[in-house]
Amino acid sequence: MDFDFQITPPAADGEEIYDVAIIGGGPAGATAAIYTARANLKTLVIDKGIANGALGITSKIANYPGIPGEISGEELVRRMRQQAESFGAKFVQDRIQATDLHSDPKLLFGNAGTYAAKTVIIATGSMGRGNRVPGEDRLLGRGVSYCATCDAAFFRDQEVAVVGSSEEAVEEALFLTQFASRVHFLCPKKEIHASPELVEELTAHPKVVMYWGVALREVLGEQRVEAIRYRTPIGTEETLPVAGVFIYLQGAHPITDFLGGQLPLSEGGCLMVDSEYQTAIPGVYAVGDVLCNHVKQAVVAAAEGAIAAMAVEKHLRGRKKLVVDWSK
Ligand SMILES: Cc1cc2nc3c(=O)[nH]c(=O)nc-3n(C[C@H](O)[C@H](O)[C@H](O)COP(=O)(O)OP(=O)(O)OC[C@H]3O[C@@H](n4cnc5c(N)ncnc54)[C@H](O)[C@@H]3O)c2cc1C
Repeated sequence: MDFDFQITPPAADGEEIYDVAIIGGGPAGATAAIYTARANLKTLVIDKGIANGALGITSKIANYPGIPGEISGEELVRRMRQQAESFGAKFVQDRIQATDLHSDPKLLFGNAGTYAAKTVIIATGSMGRGNRVPGEDRLLGRGVSYCATCDAAFFRDQEVAVVGSSEEAVEEALFLTQFASRVHFLCPKKEIHASPELVEELTAHPKVVMYWGVALREVLGEQRVEAIRYRTPIGTEETLPVAGVFIYLQGAHPITDFLGGQLPLSEGGCLMVDSEYQTAIPGVYAVGDVLCNHVKQAVVAAAEGAIAAMAVEKHLRGRKKLVVDWSK
């Protein structure tokens, strides 16, 4: 089930090398893309889904400058992306699983392929999980997975569980229905943050069994996953026999797992940057909620994206000052 990061050739994007690849298309990443694309840099944004970020799940935002009244967070992100696209930025929906930030060009490994870029901006936010449930780490790769697109084929004609409430969880569960005999969808909340069409497709699917308001407690098994234990809404605990469990729970932890330790993290698990948002690796920047010393507001994330974008432009063009060509 592991990726082989060394031999995967650049594939998803016709072996194009971008000036800048931005991981995460929330307010931080989308704003960075507005600035880099406007500065004529070949810009790629890779995002696992608009409804998976902090702003994407926010039902109403009323304090974003220039947007009077209320707007959904998803609509605000959509507008930022459209603005970036209008300047030439390209957006792809994919989840980055691993990176090689020391290579030249830098390589990003997603479920759909590999992306190559001269510089990278990390803008993945802080919706990641901190704590694992018992058995999860021990059985990772032996039935526990975070990527149905990668591992679904290992579960042909077997029963699996998907745990989560995000759009990503729904898409991965629907992908699994092509292989598994049954998909048990355990939603920790009473609703799912995804488009109504996707939720309808999931809940109406003949292979899917829905569980609402349940909490994953433990992954059970000796050599491989044999079952999961979960708490029901009335407080009892149940065991569900499954061959695999795909976990897409969200929390409030910076999302840095795909970096595989290539960048140092602070005690709080955040990326560390200089005043231009550059990390310890030259040409690699980090912005938005993935940082710790940062006010968690959309406008702040957007501002950081703008500063990092200008720093990228300076880095690529070998300039000493942060300058943008406003004449375009
Ligand atoms: C419930 C709630 C209400 C809020 N209300 C407000 C408000 O009223 N006003 C305000 O200003 N702020 C508000 N905020 C805060 C604001 O939403 C965040 O500060 C802001 O969204 C941070 O932007 P970001 O781009 O850093 O991260 P995010 O918005 O979280 O975006 C990160 C993006 O990265 C993507 N991603 C993550 N991992 C990967 C990966 N491995 N590969 C590819 N893509 C990936 C995600 O899909 C997501 O689109 C609220 C937050 C929450 C949770």
